[in-house]
Amino acid sequence: MPYSILVVDDDLAIKDSVSQFLAMLNYDVKSASNAEEALKILDSFEATIVLTDVMMQGMDGLELTRRIKESYDIDVMVMTGYSAEYSYENAVQAGASDFIFKPFRFEELDLRIKRVLRETELKKERSKHLKELKKLAITDALTQLYNSRHFFSQIKSETNRHLRYSRALSLLMLDIDFFKNYNDTWGHLEGDKVLMKIGKTIDSCMRSMDTAYRYGGEEFAILLPETRLKKACVVGERIRSRISAQVFEPETGTKASVTVSLGATELVKDEDFTSFIRRVDKALYQSKDTGRNKLTSIVIP
Ligand code: GH3
Ligand code: MG
Ligand code: MG
Repeated sequence: MPYSILVVDDDLAIKDSVSQFLAMLNYDVKSASNAEEALKILDSFEATIVLTDVMMQGMDGLELTRRIKESYDIDVMVMTGYSAEYSYENAVQAGASDFIFKPFRFEELDLRIKRVLRETELKKERSKHLKELKKLAITDALTQLYNSRHFFSQIKSETNRHLRYSRALSLLMLDIDFFKNYNDTWGHLEGDKVLMKIGKTIDSCMRSMDTAYRYGGEEFAILLPETRLKKACVVGERIRSRISAQVFEPETGTKASVTVSLGATELVKDEDFTSFIRRVDKALYQSKDTGRNKLTSIVIP
């Protein structure tokens, strides 16, 4: 896709010659003879760069730069004559990416545009990588659910939100039953497949606000904001029954299945997240102690 440039200058000779030169370099070019017209063009023209004169009738080029930077992610390059009372600092403060003195040679303009484009590409790449790294830091590699580090940061902020706005918050904790046996019988890699599949099943049972985490090796947590305990138990029960209905084939022709035990509880007013987690753990271990493949909920501490 060619880059697009909007040229703004009230000197028609400059506007036209610069536009023609840029079109010759295969940029998609539009032009305006004042700032107001430029802003109107930007309503429908996706410019990569705006190249604007500073001294213009009506709104000047620096004010135009400020307006553009307020509303768009566009690089602005400012052109000015040596005699003008506008400085490089003024232009940079307004948000300009570069400043070029008139008269300039077209070759210089060409190089400066290329540099601005290159810097913008690098900035975009850097922020994309940063985003990917941030996602990686909170994601569990095996299941693609969030990891336990993210669980602790989220449960802290959700319990604070609950305290501040008195919102409901429920928590489910899930642990695979006799998973050591599964690993011992079919091998660790087959066990990993079970973990991945359980991650997908949990994900498929959640509503849009809920978040799921791999809390430990074979333990999962699900945070359910704006959710009372009764509703959380419905979600938990759905997860339990879907997992128990799944058939695995650790060896060709051999069918296997797993069950999970769950604990469920709801945050109590003025409680901190550690006692919230302790209670859901207790509920989970009651499920383990009373036969497994079930959900236990605890209402009040
Ligand atoms: P219980 O019903 O009491 O929970 O029994 P269990 O065997 O599931 O519990 P235990 O805590 O004795 O064993 C947990 C097992 O989970 C042991 C460990 O090998 C397995 N495990 C933990 N993390 C992973 C993993 O990342 N991959 C695989 N394949 N297994 C894991
Ligand atoms: Mg466990
Ligand atoms: Mg277990």
